[in-house]
Amino acid sequence: MTSTTPTTAPRDPARRPHRETRRLIMRDGDEAPRALYEAFDVFNTLHFGGLLASPLIFIAACSSPRALGDYCERDIHGLRSRIRIAPATWKRGWKRVLATLLHEMVHAWCAELIDNLEPGYKGHGPIFCHATFPISEFYGWPYCAPQGRKGRTRAEHWPAVQLDDDDHGPAKRAAKAPRVDDDPDALAAGIALERARVRAHLAALAAQLREGKRARSAALIEQLALDLEPQATP
Ligand SMILES: [Zn+2]
Repeated sequence: MTSTTPTTAPRDPARRPHRETRRLIMRDGDEAPRALYEAFDVFNTLHFGGLLASPLIFIAACSSPRALGDYCERDIHGLRSRIRIAPATWKRGWKRVLATLLHEMVHAWCAELIDNLEPGYKGHGPIFCHATFPISEFYGWPYCAPQGRKGRTRAEHWPAVQLDDDDHGPAKRAAKAPRVDDDPDALAAGIALERARVRAHLAALAAQLREGKRARSAALIEQLALDLEPQATP
């Protein structure tokens, strides 16, 4: 699960549309979807050993109107591994967006690596929970359990992150505006804040790896941190 050895999923030809879509989004898309793909890479390396194959990530309405996001192993068009983040989730702050992405990535891990989406548990069974433990450990989040057994967080609500006041930055400012995605400054501020946090995590991890004489892994992690440096605006 959590691996610091740089590995990557084999380049499956079936994921070519995914890679092309991503290339297009990184070239022509707005900041929010681009940041989601970058966050996917960071989480994939940090928590899934780089083993998750290229997904499709969309900011789009989910099948349930109450869902923050959803994951589909294969949609009706035959496209594999589609992650959707509900537009309403943006109003709840960037931290909630990242937490939702991570939740959907755990479903992707269950589908791609274990080939078991636990339909009997609607996706939130013991395998899902097992995959979340090291991630909860990493961020200091509460552990989850199927159906919230033993008083733990219900797996479908994991990671149920605690939001600090400043995490609501974009959402609070957006309260005046009709839609958060109409306020690019607030959104950019939220993204910058979360990037700074992820950078701090990555720097600590890289230092640990260097101490353990794992220079190659450390270099990869440092590269990821570098990618998250604020870009100078021309
Ligand atoms: Zn779920």
